[in-house]
Amino acid sequence: DLEIGRLAADTNPEAYPHEEKDLKSLLNAHKSWTNSKQADEILKRWPACMSEFVRVFPKDFKAAVQAAIDRGEHTPIGSMREYLPSQEALNDHSSKQRIRKQPKVRRSSFEDDSVPVSMDIEDVALFQKTTKGNRPQKIEDAKLVATSNRGFLEVDRGDLPKRGVEERVSDFKEILAKKDEVAVQTQASRCMDCGTPFCHQSVTDKSGCPLGNLIPEWNDLVRKGAWFDAFKRLMATNNFPEFTGRVCPAPCEGACTLGIIDDPVAIKSVELSIIDKAYEMGWMVPSPPKVRTDKRIVIVGSGPCGLAAADQLNKMGHRVTVLERADRIGGLMMYGVPNMKTDKMDVVQRRVDIMKREGITFVTGPAGRVAESMEAHIEGTNMGPRASQLLEEYDAVLLAVGATVARDMQSVPGRDLSGIHLAMDYLTHNTKALLDGGDVSNKWRRWWGAKKNGMDPKTLDAKDKKVIVIGGGDTGNDCIGTAVRQGAKAVVNLELMGKPPKQRAPHNPWPHWPMVFKVDYGHEEAANQCNNDQDIRHYGALTKEFLDDGHGNVKGIKMVNVRWEKIDGQMRMMEQPGSEKIIEADLILLALGFLGPENPLAAAFGVDMDERGNYKALYQKSEGDFQTSNPKVFAAGDCRRGQSLVVWAIKEGRDAATAVNSYLTNEYPA
Ligand SMILES: Cc1cc2nc3c(=O)[nH]c(=O)nc-3n(C[C@H](O)[C@H](O)[C@H](O)COP(=O)(O)OP(=O)(O)OC[C@H]3O[C@@H](n4cnc5c(N)ncnc54)[C@H](O)[C@@H]3O)c2cc1C
Ligand code: SF4
Repeated sequence: DLEIGRLAADTNPEAYPHEEKDLKSLLNAHKSWTNSKQADEILKRWPACMSEFVRVFPKDFKAAVQAAIDRGEHTPIGSMREYLPSQEALNDHSSKQRIRKQPKVRRSSFEDDSVPVSMDIEDVALFQKTTKGNRPQKIEDAKLVATSNRGFLEVDRGDLPKRGVEERVSDFKEILAKKDEVAVQTQASRCMDCGTPFCHQSVTDKSGCPLGNLIPEWNDLVRKGAWFDAFKRLMATNNFPEFTGRVCPAPCEGACTLGIIDDPVAIKSVELSIIDKAYEMGWMVPSPPKVRTDKRIVIVGSGPCGLAAADQLNKMGHRVTVLERADRIGGLMMYGVPNMKTDKMDVVQRRVDIMKREGITFVTGPAGRVAESMEAHIEGTNMGPRASQLLEEYDAVLLAVGATVARDMQSVPGRDLSGIHLAMDYLTHNTKALLDGGDVSNKWRRWWGAKKNGMDPKTLDAKDKKVIVIGGGDTGNDCIGTAVRQGAKAVVNLELMGKPPKQRAPHNPWPHWPMVFKVDYGHEEAANQCNNDQDIRHYGALTKEFLDDGHGNVKGIKMVNVRWEKIDGQMRMMEQPGSEKIIEADLILLALGFLGPENPLAAAFGVDMDERGNYKALYQKSEGDFQTSNPKVFAAGDCRRGQSLVVWAIKEGRDAATAVNSYLTNEYPA
């Protein structure tokens, strides 16, 4: 039983302030993918034609919102009042329709037929509320899992188990424990093929899987134990599920339809289990192309974007060379994301070895470093090729060099004191020292730092130190986890923004990525090991000064609490008088994000920069995408879109490969 209310161009509902923008980006996406004339017409009349769109309200939902308003609740559901069609709108027959349907009852295949076991969505919500937390996470009998069609009704969400904190902080091995196959099948069975899966698409770039992973399909195959078929479906859209299954924040789960009434399906856990099983079973083997073309492509940068593009172009039969200035291939998947999140040898290098055997050439170290400038080349600081050489020798160039310029705190007094480091220097040094030592087990320290790598290991060792990590994102969390493993005495994490809410805020509705409070592995470990199980994070914390111990070393910071207030439509930071305090530290790590790629390389290739300081390239989800101001040069990944995620880097690498192929095969003019 539904009511339909019209959207109006001039409303600005509290509940969903981005509505107009989202709707417009959906239309733009539809137009670019389908060439729809209708979408084009609508966009020409935008935003006046917003009133031709309708919101659809189940009547029960309307009643629930009204009840929340009557109770005076300022909850997300209470603020949905902005959505409700006004009485005038309902009286106006042109804007009102009523749809009545008989509730559907679906029977389970293994339950008594006389009992109605499936319910309306509203009843399901009620049912979930009463039983959530009481359902098992695993059904022992795999046959029952394969034949049951009761899915989430009978099973609670369960993620892949992690090793206990005490055990895992003693080494740098992956934090995940051994997987239980039937438990994963049970979890996959929670997906009941909702019909319009928001999880597997990213129409507005803000929800669902950017890769278009065929999630409901492989969930169903895993449920039935058809692991090989699931593996094939997974590889059809994702070059590196062994990366995303470990590090992706899983926007798919934020968009899972089940997430509206219950915990979403544990999609990422299923994805990782499929690919890890494929390796175990020996299904991941080199598969070089049968035919080679004479086209030569050079890819600069070997992060997930460069690797995905290399994999795709190699499969098309082109001759691919990847240049990487670091001593190991993988970009931030090698030096950035720490070993406990993704094993460097057993996961990243394992895949690079397969790609080598498929015919891709990798050049690392000084020989793989593309000269940023003629001066660098002449001075000998750079032994790799110059841009002009690459442009001459190859048919196309793809820049996938990442967003490597870190945000710093140069304007804060005391920044030059000894003991303050950029997060990436710290993380890279630790991983390199581990890999050079060759041991990530609990005996890692015996070999760690044996090779000096140009840095004194002690300066970047958190052992017995008081550590402050500034920045509350993924990088900050990885610094925390690393510092705990190195034996830090205390770890504090400071974040400038306020503490996120426990549940979605009204302006952050499903299916968008939920911006809610989370506890990642590093936070859990630091609380447990260094802070009597209390969270180590301080929100709304502004650094005023780094303090000197009198010998040029940092001894702590002076900070002040801030509040964020919306003034004239803009969020403004207000310092709280009297909240100044000092926190002691002898190692401070700056994990403040990245500003963009390195500029000189773009200049060397004749590539324009965009207004945000990234490499400028077309990006309209259509022909010619990723091409820069130099037609022979393409740019993709973090260097084009700005600091982002592994899943987006893979997506851009795949799409850039398609664009390069079209360019090489003259499918569109140079
Ligand atoms: C510490 C950290 C943790 C992260 N954790 C996560 C996470 O958990 N989940 C997630 O989804 N994302 C995470 N990210 C983000 C993610 O790693 C990036 O979005 C992704 O790696 C970008 O891929 P890319 O291929 O575009 O660039 P990168 O991975 O940055 O690779 C670029 C490569 O280009 C090379 N290069 C640069 N200049 C040259 C040159 N002149 N010559 C030759 N080579 C060059 C660099 O050495 C580098 O190896 C994290 C980032 C950091 C820093
Ligand atoms: S790649 Fe990320 S978003 Fe896509 S299915 Fe895997 S976890 Fe979800």
